[in-house]
Amino acid sequence: MKALVVGAGVGGLTTTLALRSHGIDAELFEAAAQPPESGGGLGIGANATKVLSALGLDLEKAGVGRVCEEFTLRTARGRLMREMPIRSISDELGSPLVNVRRSDLVGLLRDALADTPVHHRARVTRYDRVGRGVSVTCADGRTHTGDVLIGADGIRSAVRAQTAGPEPVRDYGYVCWIATVPFTHARLPAGGAAHYWGRGQRFGLIDVGGGRAYWWGTKNTPGRRRLRWAGTKEDVLRCFRGWAEEVREAISRTDEADIVTVPAQDRTFLESWGVGPVTLVGDAAHPMLTSLSQGAGSAIEDGQALARHLATGPDVVTSLRRYETERRDRTRWLVAASRRLSHTEQFAHPLTVALRDLTIRYAPMSVVRRQTIAPMRYQPPV
Ligand SMILES: Cc1cc2nc3c(=O)[nH]c(=O)nc-3n(C[C@H](O)[C@H](O)[C@H](O)COP(=O)(O)OP(=O)(O)OC[C@H]3O[C@@H](n4cnc5c(N)ncnc54)[C@H](O)[C@@H]3O)c2cc1C
Repeated sequence: MKALVVGAGVGGLTTTLALRSHGIDAELFEAAAQPPESGGGLGIGANATKVLSALGLDLEKAGVGRVCEEFTLRTARGRLMREMPIRSISDELGSPLVNVRRSDLVGLLRDALADTPVHHRARVTRYDRVGRGVSVTCADGRTHTGDVLIGADGIRSAVRAQTAGPEPVRDYGYVCWIATVPFTHARLPAGGAAHYWGRGQRFGLIDVGGGRAYWWGTKNTPGRRRLRWAGTKEDVLRCFRGWAEEVREAISRTDEADIVTVPAQDRTFLESWGVGPVTLVGDAAHPMLTSLSQGAGSAIEDGQALARHLATGPDVVTSLRRYETERRDRTRWLVAASRRLSHTEQFAHPLTVALRDLTIRYAPMSVVRRQTIAPMRYQPPV
């Protein structure tokens, strides 16, 4: 069996690695000219580090990223609101939450694929059914055939568009800026992660190891302004005027060219991810807002589940539909829970913000723990 995988992001690479671990051949097609060299970071939850470890990738041992040992929620000015029980959660789940640079994780996955063909500058524009198999056509006119087609091509997936038809993205009215930067600071402990919550604005500052930090900032932006958003470093600094010193310093020390602006978007949940020998993984199947930090994690879970079904199912089409059925409820829940949390996080009215912050400060630890651990509880069926 040979699989054609469209997209060499975290989802496509993990899927390919999982397929190879079951002895299934795969070929990857990636639109970009080369793997990412910088960009933002990712929190890889215990659910996903467990899957990666089952695929032979131990992030900690590989020196990729930094195990999260302290996670605090703070006010915009940096006052502690809540310490999250991240260490005891990792202990209970038997796997750590690791914060990584996206490019480092992609590099690790890519290296693990060894001789698997990865075609760069290969933007897939369409697919066609060929007998029981499938072919893809790239923008340069080349075609490739295989037995299975896996669309791992992100929120603007071409494979999804052809399978499900045109559908608009859902926009949530705020932007995210992301960057990684060489950064240490007395208020960012080793293995530390802090989220600062303001009014219609948030900031995350996270140690990703190797003397680097990953930061992200968000800001509610009414429609027209967002579409015209230039997102210069000065703009970002202006938005975080008066915030904690470490927040402003992280932004200040970042090269403007390294700041990436991303709109907060997802899509209406798609109940049917494929037809015949075609399916989707990761953001192509279930794009979600960033609030739960589970987009990449769930793409990693998808890859492992899909490979297991293809390796054990009676035929390709049955295996793909079984994979989709297995993944549907969990990912639907993650998409919805991310929306709910995002809504609360981006509150802008002083009253709702005050109530939110009081709840964070005084909620019983058992409740805080239950809500933090829930997205990371994942036990793949054997
Ligand atoms: C600001 C921000 C913060 C985030 N934080 C976290 C976090 O902390 N933890 C977490 O788990 N997730 C996080 N996410 C979500 C995470 O980034 C995504 O869910 C994850 O990258 C999805 O992986 P993917 O491989 O499905 O898609 P992508 O990463 O989007 O990869 C898709 C790949 O397909 C390629 N491609 C696209 N179209 C084509 C085509 N037609 N032909 C060939 N190739 C194509 C693209 O170039 C790309 O390489 C965050 C996202 C954002 C925006």
